[in-house]
Amino acid sequence: MNAAEIRSTFLKYFESKGHQIVASSPVVPGDDPTLLFTNAGMNQFKDVFLGFDKRPYTRATTAQKCIRAGGKHNDLENVGYTARHHTFFEMLGNFSFGDYFKQDAIKYAWELLTEVFKLPKDKLWATVYAEDDEAYEIWTKEIGLPPERVVRIGDNKGARYASDNFWMMGDTGPCGPCSEIFYDFGPSIAGGPPGSPDEDGDRYTEVWNNVFMQYNRRIDENGNYVMDLLPKPSVDTGMGLERLTRVLQNVGTNYEIDLFVTLLAATQDVLKAAGATEIDPASPSLKVIADHIRACAFTVADGVIPSNEGRGYVLRRIARRAIRHGYKLGARTPFFYKLVDVLAAEMGGAYPELVSQQRRVTEVLKHEEERFFLTIANGMEILEAALAVMQQSGSLVLDGDLAFKLHDTYGFPLDLTADVLRERGMSVDEAGFNAAMGRQREQARAAGKFKMAQGLVYSGAATTFHGYDKLMVEDAKVTGLYVD
Ligand code: ATP
Ligand code: MG
Ligand code: MG
Ligand code: MG
Repeated sequence: MNAAEIRSTFLKYFESKGHQIVASSPVVPGDDPTLLFTNAGMNQFKDVFLGFDKRPYTRATTAQKCIRAGGKHNDLENVGYTARHHTFFEMLGNFSFGDYFKQDAIKYAWELLTEVFKLPKDKLWATVYAEDDEAYEIWTKEIGLPPERVVRIGDNKGARYASDNFWMMGDTGPCGPCSEIFYDFGPSIAGGPPGSPDEDGDRYTEVWNNVFMQYNRRIDENGNYVMDLLPKPSVDTGMGLERLTRVLQNVGTNYEIDLFVTLLAATQDVLKAAGATEIDPASPSLKVIADHIRACAFTVADGVIPSNEGRGYVLRRIARRAIRHGYKLGARTPFFYKLVDVLAAEMGGAYPELVSQQRRVTEVLKHEEERFFLTIANGMEILEAALAVMQQSGSLVLDGDLAFKLHDTYGFPLDLTADVLRERGMSVDEAGFNAAMGRQREQARAAGKFKMAQGLVYSGAATTFHGYDKLMVEDAKVTGLYVD
């Protein structure tokens, strides 16, 4: 099965179980200031879970465009280095709005995986929230999964790879204990099972999360987080299409599935045309570029343009990270924007906006890339000079002020600097960078007022920008995708 068939098999399965097939919402959440980008299938149903919005159905299923490159769920740094993370991915989901709960959710998931997709049962593991005896019993007694493959896991806040079985879309919003399904790719890949000290996530890969939505986390009058019960217990699930496809096509990483084959080949072609000569086909940089064109193209198609704040800034960081990786492989002229055509041909059937916006997306990304090529050489020169001095002194940590200056003055973001240093076994003084950034924010506050005086929108928040520059808002209005 190719990814397109897997997507439609999922939707049709849940349609046959009484679920309404609902279209993906844009990657830019229309009315949620707590969210930078759509990060899960449940986002468009947030108000339905909260009881503020009613739909003519109590069961729904979607294939949702998601971006995880900022906010609570941020995989930008993982991309290229794990087998399973993307910045843009499709999340397949089924939802119950006060209809079925744990038992049916688990039964549907198991039936779809083992009877429709025919996955071998002995390669599947499940996790449940530590105190969730009910879910544990369903897995061990009703489904019949051996207890040694059902793992109880609490909330491991802060651990980078370790599982966390209490799911939240952000710091506030609907949330609840969850039960996840993992697939074991076998001992050729390193890493231990979920919940073990050497859990890594690439051998035992999480494919599907079933969230038992029960609470709304919010900030009360005194500024403390509190949890209210939702009007009705509900279900929200999410399964990465690319991960399920990796399992079904039995390949080592998400980047070997059919969706990425053409894109990766085209990435090599455009890099060569831009001056790269010897490209290692195993280079993480190729994955980074093939991944990031998807995030950038979908983001621009949904109304964002590169800028220095909010969503536009995240888009700029993703585009620049891709371009820097191309530069690293030897590209010296713009190459990235050329992949828009390849992507539109590959995914335009499922997402027609890629075709209708194709010319605009190409132009926006090309303009951004031309600008960045002018500054990248400059920034690399400054960084190389600093690295030469560090080498002489034996220092392994780059000064935070310099990293910030590269970011702020030369348009060379921290993640790019961190990438260059990581490749050489060095790191950045992030505390120093953050301190410099804090000083800069004070000045930005004054700049924010100045912008508002000119009719631009800026929320003035100290840590999170929810504002967009005028161009982006106007641009988005033209596309009709963003209403503010
Ligand atoms: P992981 O622990 O592997 O980072 P997660 O627990 O953060 O995944 P969830 O928030 O539970 O992921 O999202 C539901 C599902 O979406 C996951 O089970 C996975 O299949 C998919 N998914 C999550 N993040 C990504 C990503 N960055 N790229 C591709 N698929 C993803
Ligand atoms: Mg994650
Ligand atoms: Mg996880
Ligand atoms: Mg998860």
